[in-house]
Amino acid sequence: MLQFKQIERLGLSFAGILRKEDNINQDSSENVKLQQIELSLNQIGVYPQSIYRVKQEHSDNIHLYKPYNNRELTIADGIITQIRGVALCISIADCVPVFLFDVNKKILGLIHAGREGTRKKIVQKALKKIICEFQSNTNDVVALIGPSIGPCCYYLPDDLLSLCFNEGLVITENKTLDLWKSNEKQLIEHGIKEKNIFNICECTCCNDKYYSYRRGDKRLRNYAIGMI
Ligand SMILES: [Zn+2]
Repeated sequence: MLQFKQIERLGLSFAGILRKEDNINQDSSENVKLQQIELSLNQIGVYPQSIYRVKQEHSDNIHLYKPYNNRELTIADGIITQIRGVALCISIADCVPVFLFDVNKKILGLIHAGREGTRKKIVQKALKKIICEFQSNTNDVVALIGPSIGPCCYYLPDDLLSLCFNEGLVITENKTLDLWKSNEKQLIEHGIKEKNIFNICECTCCNDKYYSYRRGDKRLRNYAIGMI
């Protein structure tokens, strides 16, 4: 388990990622998977009241968590909450997990920003929702870009690269897509201060500690988790 102390120390109970080496059995049912995630958190002294997941479909839907008893997973690729003790959880295998945290009002957002989500500017949509629901000031919001496929590995066909370029995404000199810088750019455009953006700069594709879709893990996932 990798913990993101950079953002935890600003007032979060937990921010981190469960990786390949943390051995979550992914063949199990959703409930058993949640129990395993909870156990892994308990082992490091983190005791969430509940773990909340959504059905991720590379959409730009942002869901405001409310504690009702709906057993169906909501379709969304971003979750926001102001409720303490609820561990927000998204699964990733190369896509970018983005944590947004209003350090003043203690509002947490956790976003799944893959290529599609980044093209749809999902981080900006999440910020808009946080501002609209909680009247957050962007000066108080810090962001953390977690482990995901880096500019070192994200090769794409030329036509797809130019499409991404035309949509404002960042392409490197080596003709790779830079999802890290693309999301940073969108956050800065939307008023987040550069000094308030932490980038872990760890590539899931060239680091065997993580599951990576591109490296061949078609079904297995890492879990990014955040809790106020
Ligand atoms: Zn890489």
